[in-house]
Amino acid sequence: MTVKEIFESMDYGTAPESPAEALAWLVDQGDRFGHFIDGAFTDPRNDFESRNPATGEILATLTQATLPEVDAAVAAARKAQSKWQKLGGAGRARYLYALARQLQKHGRLVAVLETLDNGKPIREARDVDIPLVQRHFYYHAGMAQLMDDEMPDREALGVCGQIIPWNFPILMLAWKVAPALAMGNTVVLKPAEYTSLTALLFADICRQIGLPKGVVNIVTGDGAVGEMITAHERIDKIAFTGSTAVGRAIRTATAGSGKALTLELGGKSPYIVFDDADIDSAVEGLVDAIFFNQGQVCCAGSRLLIHEGIADRFHEKLRARMGKLRLGNPLDKSIDMGALADPVQLKTVQGMIADNPAGTHFTPPCDMPATGCFYPPTLITDLAPADRLMQEEIFGPVLVSATFRTPAEAVEMANNTRYGLAATIWSENINLALDIAPKLAAGVVWINGSNMFDAAAGFGGVRESGFGREGGWAGLTAYTRPKGRRKALKPQRPHGGDATTGDAALDRTPKLYIGGKQTRPDSGYSRAVLDKSGAILGHVPVASRKDIRNAVEAAQSAAGWGESSAHLRAQILYYIGENLSARADELAARIDALMGGKSGKAEVEASIDRLFTYAAWADKYEGRINGVPMRGAALAMHEPVGIIGAFCPDEAPLLGLISVMAPALAMGNRVVLVASEPAPLLATDFYQILDTSDVPAGAVNILTGSHLDLAAPMAAHMNIDAVWSFSSSDISGEIERASASNLKRTWVNNGHARDWTHADSNSFLAAATEVKTVWIPYGE
Ligand code: NDP
Repeated sequence: MTVKEIFESMDYGTAPESPAEALAWLVDQGDRFGHFIDGAFTDPRNDFESRNPATGEILATLTQATLPEVDAAVAAARKAQSKWQKLGGAGRARYLYALARQLQKHGRLVAVLETLDNGKPIREARDVDIPLVQRHFYYHAGMAQLMDDEMPDREALGVCGQIIPWNFPILMLAWKVAPALAMGNTVVLKPAEYTSLTALLFADICRQIGLPKGVVNIVTGDGAVGEMITAHERIDKIAFTGSTAVGRAIRTATAGSGKALTLELGGKSPYIVFDDADIDSAVEGLVDAIFFNQGQVCCAGSRLLIHEGIADRFHEKLRARMGKLRLGNPLDKSIDMGALADPVQLKTVQGMIADNPAGTHFTPPCDMPATGCFYPPTLITDLAPADRLMQEEIFGPVLVSATFRTPAEAVEMANNTRYGLAATIWSENINLALDIAPKLAAGVVWINGSNMFDAAAGFGGVRESGFGREGGWAGLTAYTRPKGRRKALKPQRPHGGDATTGDAALDRTPKLYIGGKQTRPDSGYSRAVLDKSGAILGHVPVASRKDIRNAVEAAQSAAGWGESSAHLRAQILYYIGENLSARADELAARIDALMGGKSGKAEVEASIDRLFTYAAWADKYEGRINGVPMRGAALAMHEPVGIIGAFCPDEAPLLGLISVMAPALAMGNRVVLVASEPAPLLATDFYQILDTSDVPAGAVNILTGSHLDLAAPMAAHMNIDAVWSFSSSDISGEIERASASNLKRTWVNNGHARDWTHADSNSFLAAATEVKTVWIPYGE
């Protein structure tokens, strides 16, 4: 087309980016790649091909990692780790800074290679992905520099296995590698089979800057390689981004291994448009939310919820806008949508739509390239809330839409999903938007915008969208642990003996404490609690799965606790402390009798102190405003996790229970506690104190019984949001395995002892909160 013709027709011309440099880099590497292990590339094999999804052309051949190769990568990472850690934060910062600089200098090369390999529009690779990659390395160079001063009590986890998907290949690498390295870990990373090339270019950059050998290792191959990494005994942490199905498999596979785990999984994120929204902006935002990266975005605004009164007008404008989207060569700077990442993904999307014809499907007439993995922008209306397309991640440029009438209905519909990754609210009324944001089950909320990301802002989900945050201060916890050697926890069994009757005082029958009431166990069984000499001190109920169910129902009905003010929660914790103090002597004597010794007085004193500590924290464990490069605020809000089930420590029956209960309550959670197994009578004495301390019914529920028997039902319960275990019974693995049901957060001791005289408030408060990032751009 000539300029004259373009001028007359006003059609778009083409503005192709040259692939020459990226292709030349591939040629330089011989178009064949091995793995990057211990600072060098291994000999390549022709195991599988990496193709350009827009053209089908082969870009390079890659090597499928074998177990000995994964072993070699892990061994190299292990060997390098302690030296890398000892280099100190400032030393590591220099390397991260050098990586950031190189990624900046070679920004165009990385962007073009990414587009060739993945099919995303060059505009997006160049203007979104790669600047964010650079930003992650700069930001975490800063975190490395600050670590020694700002995180003196924390240290690296060790070797991290990192498994990433194909939708943002180099960006997901940056999200995982930068914080891991900053905190002193070394990594073995597996890119997705379809999109490994930019990870291999990154390996080349690591070599160029002289990153110490073994600090970054990259092994290529399919899911089988991911499984080898997941199962590897010498890896300390797995960080995974990908589908919920594989996330669940990884949760199950790592259960009981002692490996730390973070999962960033799928979503079906709501995009809520209220009737006072600026409709044109909301349409533009929606185009970004669902058609960015061809909709292959875990947090894509794939579920439009639109106020009934403006639905017709909005849909009309949206259809018109969709008709203007241009599909085509991803290297053309004037196209809006490129290719899906692989023919397999194209088939998945096509199949899902073909198998679910319900609803009204709209696809604008658009010029589709004759070959390549292209899929047109699609809108589906008139679906029922339970329809598969309303509930499941499609992972393509397909938007589903439904209407609501009131803000309350919008929240209900938004939360009607098993996921909880992101949400968008569109309204000109900031009061309404800020009222809705905390009510949404999501780790990220965008107000009047979408797909805003930054290294300084935590990203991650709740529910089946996974757990853990990437980015910001919150993201560092996932790559560190408390300093110091961990000691093994000795199993504490109940005292045995002849079960001789104790003194003949009037029989007192402790019960379970559920919903603010003392209730008999569903099982109808009780067990004798003996002192060291074998004398019976009392009987406690043996709780079963039904009692857990009742306790969870009671906790659900106490949802108001999470909405109460931090000041009120503090006052109630102080009040519990005050009432505990009034019964200090009695409880101290009880501890001495149960544990055999004279530690009771000190334990009661420490328990009162612990209650005061968390009363103090209730209104001081604040969120942040993240330093994102935007005119506006990205709030890191601390929210309660929800309902936490916890197995209390056996060895400190009162102090342990309070150390677990108080931080959870302080942050607005409700708890189902299972008392110390050998010394449960402290818990049953303690609930009488709760009764007189204004604790709302259902906020604290206390069960007694076998930790082993209750572990799986507690961890599998779909309405429990997190499970903690400090038990001396071997239940950590069981809890992690059963938690895969709804991918709840877990915090287990893996058989390690804890010093209960030390509060370790930061660990408890972090476990008792979710960080929700709320993006609020300013301006008209
Ligand atoms: P997966 O979750 O299967 O892949 C993510 C990563 O995990 C890839 O590196 C993959 O390897 C690897 N992997 C696959 N199986 C295992 C395993 N058993 N153990 C360890 N690692 C494994 O996603 P897919 O690429 O298969 O996509 C399937 C669907 O998942 C998509 O249609 C989409 O709906 C969703 N998805 C969601 C993403 C998100 O961010 N929410 C990202 C990607 C996909 P390899 O690719 O080499 O096989």
